[in-house]
Amino acid sequence: MTVEKLERSRQENMAYYGFGPSAMKKLRVCTVCGTPAPLEKNFCVECGHRLPDKTLYDLYLERHEQCSACGNVLTEAMEFCPQCGMKLRE
Ligand SMILES: [Zn+2]
Ligand SMILES: [Zn+2]
Repeated sequence: MTVEKLERSRQENMAYYGFGPSAMKKLRVCTVCGTPAPLEKNFCVECGHRLPDKTLYDLYLERHEQCSACGNVLTEAMEFCPQCGMKLRE
């Protein structure tokens, strides 16, 4: 499964379940078929593969920069943290 495919399925899941960290923290996505599952499930409902330990939110954090002061997730374009106001770039 490619990163692009995973990313696309993540976006579809987000559109379906609603955006935001609180929704992503409650979901894990099957690494084999990309089916989302609630956190209380350990195996994929589609293919039966064991779900990863990481939630959708963990994967999201791994791919994005975070504020060193407050941990808020940032995008490349940001100069100041929107949450705590820390200057991010020199
Ligand atoms: Zn699966
Ligand atoms: Zn911050």
